[in-house]
Amino acid sequence: MRILGHFYQRDEIVKYADFVGDSFMLAQAAKQHPEAVSFVFCGVHFMAETADILSGPEQSVILPNLAAGCSMADMATIEQVEACWRELTDVLGTGGRMAASDGGLQPVIPVTYMNSSAAIKAFCGRNGGIVCTSSNAQTVLEWAFESGQRVVFFPDQHLGRNTAKAMGITEDVMPLWRPHLPLGGNTVEQLHDSKVILWNGFCSVHKRFTVAQIEKARADFPGARVIVHPECPAAVVEAADGAGSTEYIRKEVEAAAPGSVLAIGTEINLVNRLQQQRPDLTIFCLDPVVCPCSTMYRIHPAYLAWTLESLLAGQVPNQITVDAGVADDSRIALERMLAAKP
Ligand code: SF4
Repeated sequence: MRILGHFYQRDEIVKYADFVGDSFMLAQAAKQHPEAVSFVFCGVHFMAETADILSGPEQSVILPNLAAGCSMADMATIEQVEACWRELTDVLGTGGRMAASDGGLQPVIPVTYMNSSAAIKAFCGRNGGIVCTSSNAQTVLEWAFESGQRVVFFPDQHLGRNTAKAMGITEDVMPLWRPHLPLGGNTVEQLHDSKVILWNGFCSVHKRFTVAQIEKARADFPGARVIVHPECPAAVVEAADGAGSTEYIRKEVEAAAPGSVLAIGTEINLVNRLQQQRPDLTIFCLDPVVCPCSTMYRIHPAYLAWTLESLLAGQVPNQITVDAGVADDSRIALERMLAAKP
């Protein structure tokens, strides 16, 4: 049995974890440990699904509290995504290679952030699409534009917008798809002219960060370096000194000269742990109001204890099992991502 702990878990959980990382690092840890009979996944539901997809068929993945979901992942259901796809293919043309006049490119490539259900990863796998993480989103979009005229990006509008802007794509060709409106609230012309269609999802933790918080941090600590996660709104990413994945933030902290001040826009448990690891730096969260991920927080130590006691008693509680067909299609999208590199 191995305990996998996400970076955003509280210290009382992380201290018991055999591996600590982001969602993809933990899924890879599950893949790389075929000797483990089970994995207790201290994270949220979509992460446990990915670990189940990448681990062996005999291994079980357990989520200590089934109520630990991700509000962003829940913002795109498979029914909504399939309805969106039907409308897009009606307007833009069906899948498959288009005529030479279209450059031989598919009308639209579906891309989903790792923070989505297995059903949506599988949808992307079935429809020529791919998965991305916050570390490799640009590489994945470049891959998508090699075979498609445009991308529809699920479910985090901010990661999609920030990545596309960094590639020089302008906001006027990034319509927002609101799942409850016909054509997502767009005109046929907007969809035809689009390069990246953004799903109307967001992370409830990272959308709290503001430009005003950055201005205050700079006023209070002149010379502070401001780094934020790309799930933050575009104005925040643009006002920061740097933006990147959790791994990027960790490396920035590692590389900081003693005495430096770092103002960070990401989840509070991670920020506090980084400060503990580098007491020679001043590190603080941009948001003065404590902002843990409330769904991650549902992995209370008591649930972990209950899970371990159940395993000792020979029971496998709260097992996360992805349907075999969904897992196969998800693996296609995940493997495309791994082949696309960084
Ligand atoms: S931090 Fe945001 S994206 Fe991550 S699990 Fe929590 S709600 Fe989901």
